[in-house]
Amino acid sequence: MAKTPSSNLGTSIGGNMEDCIFCKIIKGDIPCTKIYESENFFAFLDISPVSEGHTLLIPKQHCTNLLDVPEHLGTELLEVGQKIGRAILQATGADGFNFILNNGKAAGQAVFHAHFHIVPRKMGDGLVDWHHGTKVEDSELAGVREKILEKLL
Ligand code: AMP
Ligand code: ZN
Repeated sequence: MAKTPSSNLGTSIGGNMEDCIFCKIIKGDIPCTKIYESENFFAFLDISPVSEGHTLLIPKQHCTNLLDVPEHLGTELLEVGQKIGRAILQATGADGFNFILNNGKAAGQAVFHAHFHIVPRKMGDGLVDWHHGTKVEDSELAGVREKILEKLL
């Protein structure tokens, strides 16, 4: 399947392996608080946690963002994400967690090695509920759907 180029998503920091901070963490050149490692994945605590237990899950292979992550890692990504998510829920007593990837500079990506944030959440914790927008008409949704389906080959 043709891949969408990811080069326009913003790669100002760590755009290649040599100066990628997360590749350096994987290699052990920069310290981190590691919580998981397998052949293909690595997870460590975020240095500026949004909540206790905030973890970053990354592919060991340098991938700039989600569009560069090899498809064959998908099943393992889900397995590891679930495994860490369950452990974090139990360890922190959280009520839930966000599993988030900021894809591209415009989406808030600051480190250009693809990473999933696992952010433990408590009921009423007051963290920003970014995903509740404004209700729109069905006709507007239909127009958006058409645009996406044209590209969804
Ligand atoms: P994003 O904005 O999605 O690119 O998130 C980057 C995340 O990486 C932020 O939450 C940072 O706190 C985190 N981060 C940056 N440098 C380090 C580091 N050396 N160790 C752990 N987390 C880091
Ligand atoms: Zn990297």
